[in-house]
Amino acid sequence: MCFILHLTTFYACNHSVVNRRQKLDCNATNCVFSQRHRPEEHACQITCAQSLQDEQSFTTSIVTYPCDACTYASHCTQK
Ligand SMILES: [Zn+2]
Ligand SMILES: [Zn+2]
Ligand SMILES: [Zn+2]
Repeated sequence: MCFILHLTTFYACNHSVVNRRQKLDCNATNCVFSQRHRPEEHACQITCAQSLQDEQSFTTSIVTYPCDACTYASHCTQK
């Protein structure tokens, strides 16, 4: 089954920020979201997966500075 992959950056403030979402195609013929979902007439509701799998998160990078929200928040309190 296809699912949505969240590519996240993990910041020093312990926040994960999603910077990209991409759909991963399972290429199955029995999945309505697949590019290879069978084009011919079939009992789709019965034979095919009708929903995406739960979203998955994947940390693509870990950085040593805080996220934008935390950076700006601390700037505000320092004033
Ligand atoms: Zn699929
Ligand atoms: Zn189908
Ligand atoms: Zn943060």
